[in-house]
Amino acid sequence: MLYLHIPYCHHKCTYCGFYSVAGRRDYSEYVDAICSEIRLRGDGRRLRTIYFGGGTPSLLSPLQLRKITGTIAECFDVSGIEEVTLEANPENLTPEYVALLAEMRFFNRLSIGIQSFSDSELHLLNRVHNANQATDAIHNASEAGFNNISVDLIFGLPHQSVGKWLDNLDILASHKDFGSIKHLSCYELTLEPGSILERQLQMGRLSMAGDEVLEAQYSQLLDWCMRNGFEQYEISNFCRPGFHSRHNSRYWNRTPYIGVGAGAHSFNGTRRRWNKPDIAAYVKGASIGEIPFDEELLSDKDAFNEYIMTSLRTVRGIHKPVIDSEFSSFSTGLAKQIQSFIRKGMIVETKDYYIPTAAGLLHADGIASELFVI
Ligand code: SF4
Repeated sequence: MLYLHIPYCHHKCTYCGFYSVAGRRDYSEYVDAICSEIRLRGDGRRLRTIYFGGGTPSLLSPLQLRKITGTIAECFDVSGIEEVTLEANPENLTPEYVALLAEMRFFNRLSIGIQSFSDSELHLLNRVHNANQATDAIHNASEAGFNNISVDLIFGLPHQSVGKWLDNLDILASHKDFGSIKHLSCYELTLEPGSILERQLQMGRLSMAGDEVLEAQYSQLLDWCMRNGFEQYEISNFCRPGFHSRHNSRYWNRTPYIGVGAGAHSFNGTRRRWNKPDIAAYVKGASIGEIPFDEELLSDKDAFNEYIMTSLRTVRGIHKPVIDSEFSSFSTGLAKQIQSFIRKGMIVETKDYYIPTAAGLLHADGIASELFVI
């Protein structure tokens, strides 16, 4: 698994808590730095998935993307690659851009940050694109041959009624290229520390959606997915059968991965490492072969808690054989602690799994924190 972080954006969305730098710039130095890091860390290992995330990776030109993908192919074995995703924003997906992407024959999945099909909601989120561009982006990508498209939408927006949320989903379902959309990520709007949204709330300009609206919107989402052939496989992720995100699913299975780029995280099974989120330091470091990073050795407790947190957000749940083989010292405690959630109907126990029910998924983070080893 390889993750590449492209920490640039046209401008900041109000809710953004990711590491990214806004404004027009020349990305060539950064592209060179990423290629240097790939050469430094590429060890010829066989990659199954690659993910270009950000930020806004679609701000890079096809030529710059070609330079990066060429370097990946030199430094890793990509002969068995299953999935290569590019995160893209709608305003970048012009017919010319997607045609050049398709010509590269490297990316086989596009994840488009639509967020909403309503101009007023997009304005509230301070997105660059408008509703027409959102619709066109899906069409352009599909026309160019991308038939494995993922769409991101956000619910729980201030002033967004349950009906307005459902309108977004219905616009998606009525899109002429709906068949090319194989995956849907729907996130509840959350308040990120330091975001513009947080300041707007503090100034009393907005208020967040209440629990009742959120629960109704989420329940509409589950219902819509069922009616439209999308199955849920994680709290926020839905797909047509067989089209789950291979890359993200492997994070949840504790598969080791390499992350390159400023702010990117890596995991080797025992250690977590993160490049410093500082583009200037990253570019400088890459030029002398010394990428600035920090790392930590995960304690058994940390690894166990992370596993509980991520697995309870998936419909598969906690895999008992993983607990027995990797966290055996916590297995008896977990079996005891989890009983109260089984009694409340939030978890179902089978021979091999502790599976969250629909109610359990809704409260996955709260349940996980009760099961943590401190
Ligand atoms: S496009 Fe994504 S990364 Fe960039 S500012 Fe908006 S939310 Fe943040």
